[in-house]
Amino acid sequence: MDLQNYVRDIKDFPKEGVTYKDITPLLLSPEATNFALQQFVVKLKDMRIDKVVGIESRGFFFGTLLAKELNVGFIPVRKPGKLPAETHTESYDLEYGKDTLEIHADAIKKGEQILLHDDVLATGGTAKATCNLIERCGGEVVYCNFLVKLLFLNGGEKLNNYNVHSLIEY
Ligand code: AMP
Repeated sequence: MDLQNYVRDIKDFPKEGVTYKDITPLLLSPEATNFALQQFVVKLKDMRIDKVVGIESRGFFFGTLLAKELNVGFIPVRKPGKLPAETHTESYDLEYGKDTLEIHADAIKKGEQILLHDDVLATGGTAKATCNLIERCGGEVVYCNFLVKLLFLNGGEKLNNYNVHSLIEY
């Protein structure tokens, strides 16, 4: 199965010059969703994963499916002000301005091996900030997992100390 057929390009969204990789066609297909999930899992079979962290909001789709498949807990990393208990907070630079992400401070036990998941790796800022959050909780990021990697944005460079995988590359 060619998963690229289930990712739709939306030109100039959310702003001019950006080609948005829309994964909703993939989510609409149970066959493609299950195929993608099995492709992820097959690469993880010799690894110890204690928990999955998914990044708001499109990282929640496959993040929770992966956690269920691996029989481990799921942790949401969210935009500021959404998580109700005590959090760690990490701000990072965007092309224009700054963004912030939060994690529940008690979600990870020291030394736990964490899989990070998001839908798209672009410049890598979001994923790197999430790695920092996981490490501040005492976790070890053993695997960074994406559906799509945009090679021309070199997001892998920000994650060069990590184990980075994606199913589809552009
Ligand atoms: P970045 O921090 O630049 O790697 O951006 C990654 C975050 O922005 C992810 O959470 C993606 O969901 C989203 N994102 C960035 N670029 C795109 C794109 N071209 N299509 C879809 N989502 C994107």
